[in-house]
Amino acid sequence: MPTIKNNFDRINKEIMSTALSCGRNIDTIQLIAVSKRKSVETIMEGIKAGAKHFGENYIQEAVEKIDRIGKDGIYWHFIGHLQSNKAKFAVQYFDYIHTVDTLKLAKAIDQQAKKIDKVQKILVQVNISEEKTKSGSNTKDTLQLAEQISLFKNLSLQGLMCMPPYFLDPEKARIYFKQLDHIKERIIALKLDNVSMEHLSMGMSNDFKVAIEEGSTMVRVGTSLFGGRD
Ligand SMILES: *Cc1c(COP(=O)(O)O)cnc(C)c1O
Repeated sequence: MPTIKNNFDRINKEIMSTALSCGRNIDTIQLIAVSKRKSVETIMEGIKAGAKHFGENYIQEAVEKIDRIGKDGIYWHFIGHLQSNKAKFAVQYFDYIHTVDTLKLAKAIDQQAKKIDKVQKILVQVNISEEKTKSGSNTKDTLQLAEQISLFKNLSLQGLMCMPPYFLDPEKARIYFKQLDHIKERIIALKLDNVSMEHLSMGMSNDFKVAIEEGSTMVRVGTSLFGGRD
């Protein structure tokens, strides 16, 4: 059985060789270790292996784990579906929230951030494959949502996130990654305040290489790093 350290080193090598092969600077790509449903002990192993960015999906579970692990030198990314009534905890505990997909949620996060004098870094999640069952802003509404978000003083919109359908052949996800990058470019062209758009959060265990080729700056890897989830 490969250890988490073995996996971490292998994935980093793959990120590096992919970046090299498409002429990208490795420093612009972050590996986010997705630790949902993994124990504090497993996360500590990840930290020992060198991981600095962790992604969590469930507020309650994350709060309990972050209280034990702390935030020193670690960046916590919220990547799950967020309800407005949990915005307070997301703001208190997370450096980035990747899954803002409605004005209502953006507003709730802004209000909570204001209370603790924080400028919350967020990404807008886009329902890039337009599946009815999936979260994310509709592609046609995303520009307007970005404009509305730019008016909130305690939000800093840093980019876009997507989760295409799972394909056995990762090449099939490429078109969705391209589309997300295209929406990003259109938002940049609007030159909005408080909007930097430096990040594309895309690519998971099975398709992160394709995502890097299409401009991903945050790959969210769980299974390949920590093994399967129960
Ligand atoms: C679980 C999850 C991941 C990680 O998926 P793996 O296939 O295990 O790498 C990435 N992003 C989101 C939003 C997730 O929920």
